[in-house]
Amino acid sequence: MSHGLLGERARPRASSWAILRRVAAIFRPYRISVLALLATVTASALIGLAPPLLFAAIIDNISKTKDAHRVDIDALLIFAAVLVSALLSVVQSYLNNRVGQGVMYDMRNHLYAHLQKMSLRFFTSTRSGEILSRLNNDVGGIQDAVTNSFTSVFSNLIIVVTTVVLMAFLDWRLTIFSLAALPLFIIPTRIVGGVQRRLLARTQERVGDMNAQMQETLSVNGALLTKIFGRQSYEYARFDHTNRDVRDLTFRRLMTGRWFFMLLGLFGSLAPALVYWYGGKQVISGNLSAGNVVAFAALVTRIFSPVTQLLSVWITVQSSLALFERVFDYGDQPPDIVESPHAVALARPAGRVAYEHINFSYGDDIPALADVSIEIPPGQSAALVGPSGAGKTTITYLLPRLYDADAGRVLIDGHDVRDITLASLSDAIGVVTQEPYLFHASIRDNIRYARPEATDDEVHAAARAAYIHEFVDGLPRGYDTIVGERGYRLSGGEKQRVAIARAVLKDAPILILDEATSSLDSHSERVIQLALEDLARGRTTLIIAHRLSTILRADEIFVVDGGRIVERGKHDALLARGGLYASLYRQQFSGDGAAPTRDDGVVAAG
Ligand code: ADP
Repeated sequence: MSHGLLGERARPRASSWAILRRVAAIFRPYRISVLALLATVTASALIGLAPPLLFAAIIDNISKTKDAHRVDIDALLIFAAVLVSALLSVVQSYLNNRVGQGVMYDMRNHLYAHLQKMSLRFFTSTRSGEILSRLNNDVGGIQDAVTNSFTSVFSNLIIVVTTVVLMAFLDWRLTIFSLAALPLFIIPTRIVGGVQRRLLARTQERVGDMNAQMQETLSVNGALLTKIFGRQSYEYARFDHTNRDVRDLTFRRLMTGRWFFMLLGLFGSLAPALVYWYGGKQVISGNLSAGNVVAFAALVTRIFSPVTQLLSVWITVQSSLALFERVFDYGDQPPDIVESPHAVALARPAGRVAYEHINFSYGDDIPALADVSIEIPPGQSAALVGPSGAGKTTITYLLPRLYDADAGRVLIDGHDVRDITLASLSDAIGVVTQEPYLFHASIRDNIRYARPEATDDEVHAAARAAYIHEFVDGLPRGYDTIVGERGYRLSGGEKQRVAIARAVLKDAPILILDEATSSLDSHSERVIQLALEDLARGRTTLIIAHRLSTILRADEIFVVDGGRIVERGKHDALLARGGLYASLYRQQFSGDGAAPTRDDGVVAAG
């Protein structure tokens, strides 16, 4: 049934009790509602005991005292008990759903807030579809377990205990006789539960894979790639494979234990017959009243459904533990970029930036940066130049703490960036990346993302400074034009300028610029150059430079190669040295363009 599965992707499992304890902690804020729920459940379990007892009273009355008035009263009491139970069931589901939805709400919020704290390292090493799957499918799956299983466990437990106590009170021999077979069902239940839990964990993993794949191939970029390379049937086959796994695993999970439950159900249906057979003989031999046999038959019927449910609920609980485990697994990953407890808020720093002997690797032991030192006085600019993969982008990542250095320090105005509050660090640095990301929102909102309280006039002024105002104003819907993945498609140059407008609006004293390597038409390029020059004026600027004009304007050029700063200085001095800079320069800028313009970031590609 599960042999192949148990071997696959075996990972250490937390003990069920450890997980249950954490689940209990999630319920703590709802303890009042939970207590009310438990009280309701107990009340309805106790009221449920009344009808069988009243049946017994009626039967014994009919056969012995023959008091017609009592029969009326007992019948009315049965009616009342059933009615109250029905009303209680509404209260019960109200409380149940409130707690269930509340817990889901908390878990989604908690997980989302936690994921936002995760560093870029987490997002570069986890597929976004997989992350979405945990937030949606796993948390959603838990809801089912919460709203159905947990109350059901308690309610059934109460019913079983009270009923068994009452049965034993009526006649202990008949109780033992009718319940003797129950322990036989416990071990199979545990086995079925364990198998289902593993099957569900594996299913959710594959659902995560499926979501990741859908997200990758059904996005604009992914769809474009698939079409360009004509890989539709390959992607379809890959999807089909995952989808098939999801179907088969789910099917196996749903069918696991079907025979077992059939036997359990069969036994439940036969139990009253056994009670009448054995109890009937006791009545004949005068050991038991006929009423008690009827009560027993009713109680046994009442107990078997909860026992079956209790056993199967244990299985559902086991499965939901798999979901909790997956959710906890993300929640447990500590954010690796955290604010130091004695972090200081940096109020508008002058902008002195220093990298001191930085070593850094992305975690695979291959150093991305080795002994990098850079100083930029306030308001000055430093250009990073070097072949593709040299480490230029990585250097810029360390300043806003997208990653932390393994050794060495990055300082702003003499403060280690790790000792600055994350909020003020973010306020101090403006970034314009090569391929700016725009949200599916209006141009206005995209620019305003830098400073949500900015007025429309400020947004327009920022757009003017980025030389994009006239273009936006000329659009049919102006600043309300929706851009982003599913919106109006801006050209690369226009997106760049929207990003520059964002940085203008942010007005941070330190600026990180990553010059686009892709060719823009000469007009766009000139306009962007102008906008960037304006933006950089008076700010400390760290720029990944690809254009000669930018390089020439920089106060200092840092030549990066293999994660090290190999040369630094002004253009003329570097050229005279005849080192890496000189050869990069000769390849890209000198002569009549005989050297091919390659888009590999070798100084320039524009
Ligand atoms: P540049 O900006 O100069 O082109 P990068 O700073 O992007 O270079 O990359 C420096 C080195 O680090 C490259 O070898 C690159 O492959 C590697 N690298 C970049 N990002 C990651 C990452 N998320 N995980 C592992 N290695 C990375």
